[in-house]
Amino acid sequence: MELTNISTIKDVMQRHGFTFSKSLGQNFLINPTVCPRIAELGGCEKGTAAIEIGTGVGVLTKELAKRCDKVLAIEIDERLRPVLAETLAEFGNVETVFADVLKTDMNALIREKLDGYDRIYVCANLPYYITSPVIMKLLEERLPVTAITVMVQKEAADRLCAEMGTRECGAVTAAVRYYSTPKMLFRVGRGSFMPAPNVDSAVIRLDVGGSANYAVADEKLFFRIVRSAFAQRRKQMLNPLSAETGIPKQELAEMLEECGIKPTVRPEELKMEDLAAICDKISHRK
Ligand code: SAM
Repeated sequence: MELTNISTIKDVMQRHGFTFSKSLGQNFLINPTVCPRIAELGGCEKGTAAIEIGTGVGVLTKELAKRCDKVLAIEIDERLRPVLAETLAEFGNVETVFADVLKTDMNALIREKLDGYDRIYVCANLPYYITSPVIMKLLEERLPVTAITVMVQKEAADRLCAEMGTRECGAVTAAVRYYSTPKMLFRVGRGSFMPAPNVDSAVIRLDVGGSANYAVADEKLFFRIVRSAFAQRRKQMLNPLSAETGIPKQELAEMLEECGIKPTVRPEELKMEDLAAICDKISHRK
């Protein structure tokens, strides 16, 4: 079954009485070149397993199933159960769990369903309304995955893959770089979807490699610092940092200087090493 063919999709949807849900971010891929590229650049090959978040009618699921030994798919919309039973009927290596990914214990699910796989790849066309929460959940829970390859809104991709110390970076940039190495793969125009969204998209890959890229003395404090600093990223970070930590501004200014950072610094000027140094300085304060 050709799942990028508009009349095939319309036909299968009609037969199962399925209609698109805007609130669940249901924009399905209809460009035949995109899913094979996501699967291949995402690392899918023999001997590996894939996790997909949000199957839709199964267009990407199929490409993952052709290449990997096993696909674990998570889809929130129960109405897709009979649709997927038909569209993925020929693939015995796909297991679909109907659940909200944000409420799922992913580590437990992986232990239960993908035991024995050394290389597990997340590949997905993410629902845009939860892009950052999903990515942060996958990273923060330290899942045993090698890489996360996802299609997201173009602006989100730019932010997620931005270099630290540039105007594009934000709290999520620092968080992603803490856990992974991001890479922009390719752009996808809005016309590649049905229904077409009013934004363009891009596919990015985050190489995770198991442990964090940066070691800090107090991880929770690190993320508190990042969130408060980037809340007003064009402004000096002394004020929000003082409010967040309760450390008087004068003392904080001295601490920054001891880290080799000027007290007037704006968060968008910081490198990851600077944030880690500030965190360690504060966590060792007597
Ligand atoms: N993979 C398909 C494709 O590329 O055509 C569908 C992608 S569509 C952008 C996003 C999918 O994620 C939808 O099928 C939607 O129902 C599902 N979804 C939305 N919120 C979800 C959640 N919280 N947990 C799991 N799946 C979700």
